[in-house]
Amino acid sequence: MQDATITFDCPGCEKTISFSVADIGTVQECAHCGGYVDVPGGSDSVFPGDTDYDRQVREYDSQTAENARQMEVAKRQQDETARQLVETARQLEVERELQAAHRHLNEKWSNTIEKVDAVVAKWNSLAEKMQSHIAKLEEDRSE
Ligand SMILES: [Zn+2]
Repeated sequence: MQDATITFDCPGCEKTISFSVADIGTVQECAHCGGYVDVPGGSDSVFPGDTDYDRQVREYDSQTAENARQMEVAKRQQDETARQLVETARQLEVERELQAAHRHLNEKWSNTIEKVDAVVAKWNSLAEKMQSHIAKLEEDRSE
């Protein structure tokens, strides 16, 4: 069987270039300008000298490539899902740590408030004592 080729114009230099049909769907270098070109075509394309067998083989190849591509996409999606799960778990962990730190701060704060309350109570009782002392002094003086 003759090796079928596909012929098209380079999108870069617009010169005519040919590749083997085996290169369809791949990126090749233009023989004239050296630029990268996507070799167009697919199972629907018709090539000169094609037999039914060639077409079937090409269709099978492109189906196989498409299946492999979809498997790759599915695998990447799984990887992405796994990555997101890990990320979510990490965020939950960070959130839990933040909550714990927040709780700790709240406890410290209420301890501080209790201490301040105790100091205020002490001052109040001192102030009461001073007042009664002063009242007693004034009584003594007026006698
Ligand atoms: Zn070119």
